[in-house]
Amino acid sequence: MPTRAADRLAGGVGISPPPCQDKAFNLIGGKQTSTYKWSFRASSTPAGLNKSTVANTLKKSFGNVTGAHNDCGRADKISATSQYLGTTSTAPNCNAMDGKNVVGFGSLDPGVLAVTCYWIGNGKIVEADMKITTKESWALSLSTCRGDSPMLEATITHEAGHVFGMNHVGEAKHGRLTMSPYLDGPCENNEATLGLGDMLGLESMY
Ligand SMILES: [Zn+2]
Repeated sequence: MPTRAADRLAGGVGISPPPCQDKAFNLIGGKQTSTYKWSFRASSTPAGLNKSTVANTLKKSFGNVTGAHNDCGRADKISATSQYLGTTSTAPNCNAMDGKNVVGFGSLDPGVLAVTCYWIGNGKIVEADMKITTKESWALSLSTCRGDSPMLEATITHEAGHVFGMNHVGEAKHGRLTMSPYLDGPCENNEATLGLGDMLGLESMY
């Protein structure tokens, strides 16, 4: 059976410490043991979003994890890598393994921004798919973000954390880390930058 991680947009960050002072992390119990190679179901992109801009945002988001994008002053010692294989007609499928890692848009429950599902065997993540909701008006940049739109990069950087083996930390006490389950809010990109706990977790695996 796959494991699902559903992620949401919400407000308060509670009593959480600043991201570079918060060492918390949790692992899902599996890691990528070679380059994560993924495809994008570009045909699923909602109307109004440019498919190639979305693809670039997805690539950048994976790069935020594999490239250890942080403002805590930590060097990139994370050996994880990802590779974009191009577009696919295959849909992300959280019900069955199909041997392909696919990212695409689809219908999710109201309030859920994205879901990453993964299969683990012997400590290895053998497949991970990602579904992004079509119910939100996604923002691809802060300068064009309006109203209550969530930032795609912030959201997908968090999802990419799951792909590489990171689990959630509690929202109330660790809400400013990338791996807390809620975004800090609309039109912000905080989660695109890894916090200390996010870095420590990734460094412990890679
Ligand atoms: Zn999550």
